[in-house]
Amino acid sequence: MLNLIIFGPPGAGKGTQSENLVNKFSLAHVSTGDLLREEMANETPLGKEVRNIISGGGLVGDDIVGRMIAEFIRNNKHAAGILFDGYPRTVYQCEMLEKFFTDETLLLTGVVGLEVEQEELMRRLLHRASIQNRADDTEEAIRTRFREYEEKTAAVMDFYKRRNLFFPVAVNGTLEENLTSVETFVKSLFDSLP
Ligand code: ADP
Repeated sequence: MLNLIIFGPPGAGKGTQSENLVNKFSLAHVSTGDLLREEMANETPLGKEVRNIISGGGLVGDDIVGRMIAEFIRNNKHAAGILFDGYPRTVYQCEMLEKFFTDETLLLTGVVGLEVEQEELMRRLLHRASIQNRADDTEEAIRTRFREYEEKTAAVMDFYKRRNLFFPVAVNGTLEENLTSVETFVKSLFDSLP
């Protein structure tokens, strides 16, 4: 199985890269951000509970996203692979994910770390804000999301570096170039699978 985490700061292009990888490698795709936005759109109790946190740019509780991920893994353990997008985002979530993998006797193939210059990130987020209607794409929420990333999520990198599972890929080019860079790297991971 090709089990991947796509990692990067807000605006790095995790969603766009995921879409491409899922098609090319027939992976099951789980985005905690998408699942949470769906809960909000359907106005479920959970959706109502997380609405203010997400609009403000903060992270929702580890247990909430943990439950979503555990269920997804249980339902997709026979897929060609699973692509985790926007998860894990804290060291505690990394530890939980490790346990979920152990429980289902699955292995993590690697973490693809999208590396983008800071100015480019802001430019992409503000551009998205102008075409989509995400409550957390206001300037203030974006600032909070970057702060959360620095304070809680950047440490996820070190967690996987220590396990030799972190693979940075620079994505400062055009969209086409960036998709090719990531896809080429993932192909090499795929070819190295036993
Ligand atoms: P982005 O990477 O652009 O910030 P996402 O769609 O991944 O977008 O996430 C949007 C929001 O959903 C986050 O700011 C956070 O509030 C919530 N969220 C998504 N995934 C997680 C997670 N793994 N842990 C906690 N909160 C999350």
